[in-house]
Amino acid sequence: MALIKVSPSKLGTWQDCPRKFYFQYIQRVRVPGSWAHFSMGNAVHNALRDWFASPRESTPDDAAALVKYHWQDGGFADAEQSQAIRDRTAAQTRSYCQTVDTEVDVHSRERTVTMRTDQIIISGRVDRLDQTAEGLQVIDYKTGRQPPAEDDARGSMALALYAASVQSMFKQPCTQVSLHHIPSASLAHWRHSDQALARQIQRAESLAAEFTAAQRGLESGAPLDLTFAATPSKLCQWCDYWSMCPAGQDVGPMHPRWQAVVD
Ligand code: SF4
Repeated sequence: MALIKVSPSKLGTWQDCPRKFYFQYIQRVRVPGSWAHFSMGNAVHNALRDWFASPRESTPDDAAALVKYHWQDGGFADAEQSQAIRDRTAAQTRSYCQTVDTEVDVHSRERTVTMRTDQIIISGRVDRLDQTAEGLQVIDYKTGRQPPAEDDARGSMALALYAASVQSMFKQPCTQVSLHHIPSASLAHWRHSDQALARQIQRAESLAAEFTAAQRGLESGAPLDLTFAATPSKLCQWCDYWSMCPAGQDVGPMHPRWQAVVD
């Protein structure tokens, strides 16, 4: 049996809404336009990737300059809004870099990690891997409004799958996972047990089996509403496929593409 390719974002999309999964991964609908919060997140991720190439030699001001260097205007209302958010984001990134441990032993940045089980091939990209005395630690940057809590680090399937993949690839322990919230410079940590990682892998296998069965059902003539049901929620107003989804339109109008970056 062919192994099913999964990524944390693909699994998350299936969990959020099978109809969205259908548009994105089965139909591969390409939607024009971008969201301002993605533009902001990309600039921060790229800046920190570059800054952590040599944190001991770089200053927090260098990190702020890197945010501006990587900035893209996509999704913002206009140039004035983009510049205001860019400057705020650069300042937040500077503050984060003032608080982080620059003696940290960075193992890799933006590292693609993979592992395979009997059923699935997991692939994803880790923002940063730190080498600690106890093994490798997964770092995931967050740029949303709400600082993550310890429960978010504990419950994140993505972080657990990254950790399991890192263990598999680098043949050393990786049970520590951390969410670094750049706007507040706050950190949320969790240490998984091997059993907890195994449970998350089983969960990923179960979800992959679900969407594979849905796809087979659709190919066999089962209706879309049964195989890839729309599951309306507040996420609909942020969904790229809102304009082609009556169930999502019933929730309310689509948010402006810059909504998430304004107070
Ligand atoms: S608009 Fe809502 S229901 Fe429709 S695909 Fe998107 S998330 Fe799913």
